[in-house]
Amino acid sequence: MKPIYLTNTLTKRKEEFKPIKAKRLTFYSCGPTVYDYPHIGNMRFFIVNDIIKRAFLYNGYKVKHIINLTDVGHLTSNADFGEDKMEKAKQREGKTAWDIAKFYTAAFKHDCQQVNTIPPTKYVKATSCIKEQIKLIELLEQKGFTYQTSDGIYFDTSKYQDYGKLGKINLTNIQTGARVEMNREKKNKTDFALWKFSPKNVNRDMEWRSPWGIGFPGWHLECSVISTKNLGQPFDLHTGGIEHIPIHHNNEIAQSEAAYNKPLANFWLHLEHLNLASGKMSKSSGDFITIHSLLEKNIDPLAFRYFVLQTHYAKRILFSWEALQAAANGFKNLQYQISQIKGKGKINQDYQNKFITAINDNFNTPQALAFVWEILKDQKLTEPDKKATILSFDKVLGLKLDKIKTIKIPTAIKTLAEERWQAKVAKDWNKSDQLRKDLEKKGYLIEDNIDSYIITKK
Ligand code: AMP
Ligand code: ZN
Repeated sequence: MKPIYLTNTLTKRKEEFKPIKAKRLTFYSCGPTVYDYPHIGNMRFFIVNDIIKRAFLYNGYKVKHIINLTDVGHLTSNADFGEDKMEKAKQREGKTAWDIAKFYTAAFKHDCQQVNTIPPTKYVKATSCIKEQIKLIELLEQKGFTYQTSDGIYFDTSKYQDYGKLGKINLTNIQTGARVEMNREKKNKTDFALWKFSPKNVNRDMEWRSPWGIGFPGWHLECSVISTKNLGQPFDLHTGGIEHIPIHHNNEIAQSEAAYNKPLANFWLHLEHLNLASGKMSKSSGDFITIHSLLEKNIDPLAFRYFVLQTHYAKRILFSWEALQAAANGFKNLQYQISQIKGKGKINQDYQNKFITAINDNFNTPQALAFVWEILKDQKLTEPDKKATILSFDKVLGLKLDKIKTIKIPTAIKTLAEERWQAKVAKDWNKSDQLRKDLEKKGYLIEDNIDSYIITKK
């Protein structure tokens, strides 16, 4: 078994992954807040999580994967003040917060299916484990880590020595000026809410009794509770977007480790964002692109997956329609080349070794895709062996290449198409137009890319 290396945010170094139990991965990913449609930035995150999971499976691991569904408690500030995003959506849509959660959870699962992610072992809703969240607060209270203000129960970060250890953040640099202004009762800038009281004069759909009063859990709590309830503490791997390092994940660590005096997770992996020119794509800005918007432009969601894989997870993607279209053309060409190969072949061991080395090296998907193209051009491999090798890689890449039907294009048609391409390259437009028409009459269409073409049946 080859080692897997990943950049652990706890140490800020690339490390060899060591599981708690041999050949088993316990894996937690911070899931969506289900108050609006997921955007393609979110989908990048879940595609990369899927690649990580598939990479472990390819290496012979058994994977237990949990994704939480944030259906309560995530406030518009992403901190301790502002409206609950669910309650805000309820005003926007005139439904109950429960219906909003149900609707957007279904939309999220549908989009995940469209980009071919393997569902997690379990999705767990924050509202499904309120009792356990209250228990964790009680434990922290017994241990002296909490205090009460007029709007909730807070975690006192000055009592937890290692606060801020994830990503070795500089606490004085944390931009919490606004947070302090909003709540002068907090003892330290970095303290965070464990339980929020339902605001007076606000009619909340989601609220529960607790030993401290009616309210709802602080946003960070659900991840601590859902992860350890399902995976144990510590578990192997926790992932999230990079924006979660300074606050959300340091808070998860503080409350879980203060309560149980042992690490929450051994490895933390943070994924870069997909941005628009204006900055991070976010639901709250209202300016976002969804999988549905891609379909409206006739772009296959799997082409978006291919687009995501072209960039390493630790690098930001600056989204543009042109770049996505270029990736979609490349993906079509790949599908086409696979569709031309008939017969069963064998996996080429050299390429497979190279592929595993690339994937196990911090999930290097751009390198893995480069090997796919190298194989297709490699004259030393038989066509069926090329296909067998690439289909094996696709267990990790997840581009559904095994679903592509073989299309038989007669040699005479291929010859005509090549003649047309050469005429086009020579800028003999009359000849290339004529040949295109001839091909059409015979029932075949030509689609040109920058440096190649595809033949399809009419
Ligand atoms: P949310 O639904 O906004 O709570 O986010 C769900 C997951 O998507 C989180 O782990 C975020 O870090 C991640 N995420 C949010 N926005 C982006 C983005 N623009 N690019 C990549 N990942 C994102
Ligand atoms: Zn989380």
